[in-house]
Amino acid sequence: MNALRQWTGPLTEELVLKPGEFGLGHVPARLKPDATTTTICGFCSTGCALKVHLRNGEAINLSPETEYPVNLGMACPKGWEALAPLGAADRATTPLLRTAQGKLEPVPWETALAVFAERFKRIQQQHGPDALAWLGTGQITTEELAYLGVLAKMGMGIRHGDGNTRQCMATSVTAYKESFGFDAPPFTYADFEESDVLIFIGSNLCVAHPILWQRVLRNRNKPEIVVIDPRKTETAMGATRHYAIRPKSDLVLLYGLANMLAASHWVDRQYIARHTTGYEAFEEFVTRFTPAEVSAATGLNLEQLWQLANLIHRGKRVSFWWTMGVNQGHEATRTAQAIINLALMTGNLGRPGTGANSITGQCNAMGSRLFSNTTNLLGGHDFENHEDRKKVARALDIDPSRIPEQNSWPYDRIVREMESGKIRGLWLVGTNPSHSWIEQSQFNRLLDKLDFVVVQDMFATSETAAHASLVLPAAGWGEKEGTFINSERRIGRVKKVARAPGQALADFHIFQLVARAWGCEQLFGRWTSPEAVFQILKGVSQGQPCDITGIQDYASLDVAGGIQWPCPENREQNSSATNGRNSKSGRTERRLFADGRFFHPDRKARFIFESPRPLPEPPDAEFPFLLLTGRGSASQWHTGTRTEKSAVLRKLRPEAAYVEINPFDAERLGIKPASSVYVTSRRDSVLVAAFVTSTIAPGQVFMPMHYDVVNRLTFPAFDPYSGQPSYKACAVDLKPAE
Ligand code: SF4
Repeated sequence: MNALRQWTGPLTEELVLKPGEFGLGHVPARLKPDATTTTICGFCSTGCALKVHLRNGEAINLSPETEYPVNLGMACPKGWEALAPLGAADRATTPLLRTAQGKLEPVPWETALAVFAERFKRIQQQHGPDALAWLGTGQITTEELAYLGVLAKMGMGIRHGDGNTRQCMATSVTAYKESFGFDAPPFTYADFEESDVLIFIGSNLCVAHPILWQRVLRNRNKPEIVVIDPRKTETAMGATRHYAIRPKSDLVLLYGLANMLAASHWVDRQYIARHTTGYEAFEEFVTRFTPAEVSAATGLNLEQLWQLANLIHRGKRVSFWWTMGVNQGHEATRTAQAIINLALMTGNLGRPGTGANSITGQCNAMGSRLFSNTTNLLGGHDFENHEDRKKVARALDIDPSRIPEQNSWPYDRIVREMESGKIRGLWLVGTNPSHSWIEQSQFNRLLDKLDFVVVQDMFATSETAAHASLVLPAAGWGEKEGTFINSERRIGRVKKVARAPGQALADFHIFQLVARAWGCEQLFGRWTSPEAVFQILKGVSQGQPCDITGIQDYASLDVAGGIQWPCPENREQNSSATNGRNSKSGRTERRLFADGRFFHPDRKARFIFESPRPLPEPPDAEFPFLLLTGRGSASQWHTGTRTEKSAVLRKLRPEAAYVEINPFDAERLGIKPASSVYVTSRRDSVLVAAFVTSTIAPGQVFMPMHYDVVNRLTFPAFDPYSGQPSYKACAVDLKPAE
């Protein structure tokens, strides 16, 4: 470990915390000691509302909210167990500083903040403004994301920041921006119930978004439910049709379908002419994707291809849905846009039950996309646009010269610059890349090379905290206030229902203290509480597609059951969104592009396309299997830092890492069910249990991403436009251990 990372200097205590600044006694006074209150779940982007029941001011239990238009009284196992991680024995309860002996030792907050500021300032002075970076998360509130982004960039002069949303949603952001002119998922959850054909591409909805699958099951139109996925997933088993394509042949398939639709005149010429540009070139481009060639590439036969094209043609309300099977690919942005192209050419946008719909991952992925101030300026603005900088500076009441004129480096570039030595100090907030980053072993090696690493998290026991110079103990979901934005753009309230343990503080509060320690607190005079920041963000959003100036305050979010953006003050301007009523809750639901007007200057959507590229690391004689990764079960969440704290959730998932192998391959290699097997890639070799199952095709294997060994194997390829890692396909070999 780099000697500079250990603190050997005097422990200054210049910063004095104000009385009551720790998490003690923070359950808001407005909540009666034995009240029930509604808050939004802090795991996935579905955004279910949970009723939390309090006794003596502390949360004792919860149940799903029946009146909320998202979950309608349902919750998945993670939601039911959402309170469990808060009481975990290994919560970080005090700041920890690594000593000269290499141990993390408790220090007072004053010391932690002073060391943080001193170390980061010294790095900046010695190595320049590119030497610091932060990596955030889609798991904290929008107000906290905004605070972090503004504090880091406008207050501390840290030029480069990104978030773990780069690992899940960057592709959808880029695809929507290029195709629609703004990062704007067009749908509302009612569309699950109103389609007559639902097409899921690279989405295991049953496991990844269980409550959204329940919404599909509420569809009364006897819909065709189509799953396009190499694996026979739980969702594929529940679908009416499963098309098991070869891994990463999705782009060829989508272009082939476009060709078949165009050649058969099964397109909506009027919609194309009125609302899009670039169709002629696209139609010409896809002619090379003949059914015979698409069949050879995808493994689907001609009958299946025509069946699929027919379903799209005959459907009156066709909706296309995608998640990580698309986003985490080496040509992910173009694949997402190929889905968008199908919706555009068939006029399946802006009407109930339609859409090219990306389902996000984390509870506040959408908040991160719009308000984290990382690769785009707050509120979906552009750092490189002078007028945008002036506008945001006005809304924040700061000098425009404080706003950088360039975008941040994306995550993969930050990692590369850790290797080059340009980046010397890193601040990680609510994220665990030592487990989840695609170049896991290399990432950990690079972390240890840095001069100073700050980890701000609920737990000091995560894989990433093991590399920290300094740990700042953070409050978790349920211990703080703010808002999340879910997949359908619905802003919902998050409430404090429990005290953070020990000296742990809300991230919001930590950012306030860091601002004070850094000496830039004067920038944040109005940032006194999460709700005050929400009001500032309303001003930032004014005139943007994500305008939320029409939302009065936090209380109005409660009354409305969450509110979807756009919600401008003058609703007359809001011509792009349609309103409907949720059949059960009676609350308003809104989808985009009802008027066919997109966000490009000409108000037209773009057809964007490009020739497919081969897999970065295809199987060969030495590594003959293709490793697919994804979610394991509905009880597991990402790297397990929280879900592994629940005894109930632990019972619902296999304890040890495993690999799914087709029976044909298992027999050929002499691998017995539940026996130990080595999975080896060019990066590493890991020993896991064999799960022999026909849900995976011969020549392919599958491992759930929740086990930390998986990213020792994955190959670091990235989509060139979104910078999103391609977790889904790399070459491996299998060998029985005995
Ligand atoms: S589906 Fe997502 S938001 Fe709903 S309860 Fe489960 S984890 Fe929470």
